[in-house]
Order: sequence, then C-alpha cells, then structure tokens
Amino acid sequence: MNKVVIVTGASRGIGREIARGLAKKGYTIIANYNKSEKQMIELKNELEKEKINIDIVKADISKRDEAKKIVEYTINKYGKIDILINNAGISQIKEFTQITDEEWNNMINTNLNSAFYMSQESCKNMIHNKKGCIINISSIWGLVGSSCEVHYSVSKAGIDAMTKSLAKELGPSNIRVNSIAPGIINTEMNKDLNQEEINKIKEEIPLEKIGDTKDIEKCIEWLIEDEYTTGQIISINGGWVI
Ligand code: NAP
Repeated sequence: MNKVVIVTGASRGIGREIARGLAKKGYTIIANYNKSEKQMIELKNELEKEKINIDIVKADISKRDEAKKIVEYTINKYGKIDILINNAGISQIKEFTQITDEEWNNMINTNLNSAFYMSQESCKNMIHNKKGCIINISSIWGLVGSSCEVHYSVSKAGIDAMTKSLAKELGPSNIRVNSIAPGIINTEMNKDLNQEEINKIKEEIPLEKIGDTKDIEKCIEWLIEDEYTTGQIISINGGWVI
C-alpha cells in the first residue's frame, strides 16, 4: 500500500501545496482543514480531474478530541500512519503588552498543542509499526524571535524543542522527527503586508525574493524519502537567517 500521510491545515497555503504535491507523487493523503471547506473541496476536485483521490477531514486541531478524530479516521480506513505533517497554524502581529490571555492561549493551542496532540495520537501507531516520519512546520521566528509576535515565536520555538526531544525519544523506534522553519512564503498568512513592506523584506534577503509554497513542498518530499535525518531544524528562508 502507498505511504499514508496526514497533512494538517491543507486547505490553503503551504499545507495545500504539500497535499497537492504528495498526492501527485502517489502518496495517500488525509488532508485536514477547519474553516476553509470551499478551498479544500476545490483541491479535492482539482485532483479528481487527474484521477487522484484525497481524503478530506474537517477538524479543529487545537482541540485534543478533534485532532484524535483525524488519527482515528486514518487508522480505521488505512490501518497505519506513515507520515504526519504538522503544518496548520495561525499568526498575529500585536504588541506584547496588548496580547490577551485568550489570544496567547489560542496561539499556543493552535500552533503548539495541536502538534502535541497530533504527534502523540499518531506516534502510538508508528511505534507499533517501528517506522514513521513526523515533520513540523515551525518558523524562523522560533529561531531568532520576532518583535510584536512573541506568542507566535514562542509557539514555533516550542515546536522546534519538541522536534529535537521527540527525535531522541522516538529514534530507537525508527521514527524520524524534523522541523522545517520557513522564512517568508507567499501565502494568505502575509496578506496584511503592503508592497512597500514586502520590498523592504526582500532587501534583507540575500536571494532577494519571497519564498514559494513549492520551496517547502520540495523539502518535504526529500525529508520523507530520506532515512538518516532526524532532530533537525531545516530553515528555508532565502538566506534571511543564517
Ligand atoms: P495560511 O495560508 O494562513 O494557511 C493556514 C492553514 O492552517 C489553513 O489551511 C488553515 O485551515 C489551517 N488552520 C489554522 N487553524 C487551524 C485549526 N485550528 N485546525 C485546523 N487547521 C487550521 O498559512 P501558511 O502560510 O500556509 O502557513 C502554514 C504553516 O507555515 C503555519 O504553521 C505557519 O506558521 C508556517 N509558516 C508560514 C510562513 C509564511 O510566511 N507563510 C512562514 C513561516 C512559517 P482553515 O482555513 O481551513 O481553517
């Protein structure tokens, strides 16, 4: 049977590109979405025209029960999980003094606790199978910190710490755990940046351009097939952070 892959937050942006790219390569895709049902169905229909089927599962992964639902759906239908891609996330730009408890908790629940829930639920099956691969999407801001994005940066640094620790714990079970820490990628997450701000950012990036979702998807393909990389934070950022 093909390798079974769960991609969280696959309705838009980076996750959508990952789901599309891997589906076209023949992987069995369980694509998770929460609010963007229309976009998710559009991707499913787009792939069906090429005779490729993907499963789509609505779940708010910031909640344990809903995250568990995706894992249970996958195991009931396919009997295994080979690869988990913890991609879903939110961002918010706000001065530290203005962040409310609710906003802080929502950020941590959506970006960090979701990866805890999804990884814990999935790795039980992976440990049983003595193989697996978990890829977390973090951010350069988890590496170097970002002004006015303290809660976002904390959530991403937490993801990277989880990656390193889990790689050590799960290595003996033949499960690899890695992070991809993107710089700026052209998705709706950056829709509030105006052209002037984008140009300023480009000037700070040695490769002088914004990244594309395909740049992340290509790295995912490589990481999935690789057999000796674990516990690493791979930052795809055009040289913005070196
Ligand atoms: P995006 O275009 O805003 O897409 C975010 C995705 O996450 C959507 O599919 C959304 O699904 C999903 N999501 C959000 N909350 C969810 C929840 N509670 N349950 C399930 N799904 C949820 O963002 P993106 O740029 O592709 O970002 C993807 C990942 O890359 C994020 O973790 C982000 O932090 C990281 N990243 C992005 C950049 C960048 O510059 N774009 C840079 C560094 C890191 P629905 O719309 O269906 O709710």
